[in-house]
Amino acid sequence: MSALPPACSECGQEFTVAAPADLPCPNCGSRRRTFRIEVGGGVLAVSGGAPEVWVHSSFARHWFEDALREARTGTDYNARRREIVFAVCFIESYLFEWVRDEALKRDFKRLRDYLPATDKRGIRERWKEVIKQLGKDGLLPATPDFGLPYWEDFQTLVKFRDGLGSCGCESSRIARRTR
Ligand SMILES: [Zn+2]
Repeated sequence: MSALPPACSECGQEFTVAAPADLPCPNCGSRRRTFRIEVGGGVLAVSGGAPEVWVHSSFARHWFEDALREARTGTDYNARRREIVFAVCFIESYLFEWVRDEALKRDFKRLRDYLPATDKRGIRERWKEVIKQLGKDGLLPATPDFGLPYWEDFQTLVKFRDGLGSCGCESSRIARRTR
């Protein structure tokens, strides 16, 4: 368990651990401060004002490392299978954690406006629609161009993942690609 530097509850600006507790945020002037403690793989955050406790974790980096390991060291069909699943898990967690920590600056309450717990959209729709919504709400300086080749590659990756879960046809395509 270790204490992380406190952060502004409004804009997410980090303070030094030694900064006086009543120092206003240099970025937005707010005096509301969020104190965070790292516990295992998660972070316990306590915000000033009406106290609220949010426990959140970050997994994207670990999923990414898993996918990378399979891509670099695995040579057989099973390594490709794991690489695909890990890569899609990475994308799912990355979207969630990036929206939470970067776009919304850990404004946990607003997270449900973009990624509600009841969200049944697939990752393709979620990725596209959440980014468009953030752009429309002025939380992103620009939105990506979904007409570029990376978007098609991403869709192929998700298709492979879907195929792994439901039938063998995608599996044979993956096997062909890895030969
Ligand atoms: Zn601030």
